[in-house]
Amino acid sequence: MNATHEADVIVVGAGLAGFCAAIEAAQAGAEVLLLEKQAEVGGSTMLSGGSMAFAGTDLQQKAGIEDSSELLFKDMREVGGHENDEKLVRLYADRQLDTYRWLRERGVEFGPIQVSSGQSAPRVHPARPRDMIRLLMQHARGSRNFRLLNSAVALRLRQDAGSSRVPGVLAQIDGKQTELVCRRAVVLASGGFSRNADLLQRFVPAQAKAIRVGGPGNTGDGLKMAWQLGAGFRDMGYVKGTFGNHPKAGAEEHTALMAVYKGAIAVNQNGERFVNESISYKLLGDAVLQQSSAVGYQIFDQSIMDQAVAGVPMFDYQKRLTQGLLIRGENLKELAGKVGVPGEKLVATVNEYNGFADQGRDERFGRTGLSMSYGKLVRIERAPFYAYPSTSAIIATYCGLTVDTGMRVLDVFGEPIAGLYAAGELTGGFHGIAYMTGTSLGKSAICGRIAGVNAAGSMS
Ligand SMILES: Cc1cc2nc3c(=O)[nH]c(=O)nc-3n(C[C@H](O)[C@H](O)[C@H](O)COP(=O)(O)OP(=O)(O)OC[C@H]3O[C@@H](n4cnc5c(N)ncnc54)[C@H](O)[C@@H]3O)c2cc1C
Repeated sequence: MNATHEADVIVVGAGLAGFCAAIEAAQAGAEVLLLEKQAEVGGSTMLSGGSMAFAGTDLQQKAGIEDSSELLFKDMREVGGHENDEKLVRLYADRQLDTYRWLRERGVEFGPIQVSSGQSAPRVHPARPRDMIRLLMQHARGSRNFRLLNSAVALRLRQDAGSSRVPGVLAQIDGKQTELVCRRAVVLASGGFSRNADLLQRFVPAQAKAIRVGGPGNTGDGLKMAWQLGAGFRDMGYVKGTFGNHPKAGAEEHTALMAVYKGAIAVNQNGERFVNESISYKLLGDAVLQQSSAVGYQIFDQSIMDQAVAGVPMFDYQKRLTQGLLIRGENLKELAGKVGVPGEKLVATVNEYNGFADQGRDERFGRTGLSMSYGKLVRIERAPFYAYPSTSAIIATYCGLTVDTGMRVLDVFGEPIAGLYAAGELTGGFHGIAYMTGTSLGKSAICGRIAGVNAAGSMS
């Protein structure tokens, strides 16, 4: 065992939260060591769709979209079933615009605004996640205070019995166990546990049929290290899959397609609708798990196809068609035959739904808009027609350590664990029962920055 590394702030995990924390801590004058378990940085952030939820931005204004921090706050609380922590949601709402500008100042570009899960105004700001990580890494490397170690696995947090601070980290570096000395604080930014079957089984056995997608390093390490020190947990029972992933998705592949928020319906193997398609895609995920083989089909027409957005994974319908994942039929019966659902039934379902669209009222499931109450129901009528096989995939775990608004990790009694901060996917309290698209990357950036500043300011 040898102690070869020392830093003011040690950040565990080089995804979006970790880079934001490291940049801010280094900027605040702390010597920062960023540990990344994998040979490559980026974690789930790199695999993600890049959708980030911001409100009141210049891009929204240019597109004539009315939105505000207050509306975002209201939507996040509502979609979370008011089970999320009001103070943390308020923090997100208050700090999101500043973080949007901060990312733009560092070169991150956002594409055309979209509406998605849990949004009563279009506020998905699509970024290219690979570019974002590359830009942040470049920025971090520009600081003399910053060091990154790849293939460096944090194993345990070291607690100083005398002061009960967290003075260090035991890590595996180049195959050797190494004690890392930390002069100020540790920031855990090691992501969620979508790739840890044991933890998923322990917390959410009901999600056993959901497929699992996420960064290979997302095995809940930070969660377990903080757990050992008595950290509290939040929202664990609400881990859910996200609707819209292709059932044949690989564990490190993005195959989500979202057409329901542009007006598609979702049908099951019998060709029948089974849910109000405007609700959060986590709740849609639960609904599809109840269907035979846990699979549904998003059914849409050429008018929705025409709204595809190249380069934004969830809305890049053309790409899914080229990949052979999206199925096309010249008419609904042909589509039904290709998909393997009863043709007459699918035609009847679409006809009924078109009647609801004309009335503006869905008498079967109470759908009143495209996403939440935003937008109006649209007829599915213009050939050709499309079907996307969709199941539920746990792509992120949206729950975890209890934190306060300074990103200090709180123990099971609500007391801060000295010298320990957390940010990103491994924190709980932001989402509650469901999820607004873009708030997972959003909270990683917003809270990574806060954790970095505060960790740098920790007294030695
Ligand atoms: C396919 C997919 C699509 C998604 N799309 C979106 C989207 O469009 N919008 C959205 O908001 N969210 C989305 N998400 C969720 C979002 O990407 C994540 O919640 C977010 O990127 C988490 O960021 P993070 O920095 O907390 O973790 P990550 O980006 O996962 O980074 C954590 C890092 O920590 C490393 N690590 C883990 N354990 C250790 C250890 N012991 N020692 C050292 N390093 C360690 C990991 O290897 C990883 O690199 C998506 C997720 C997936 C998988």
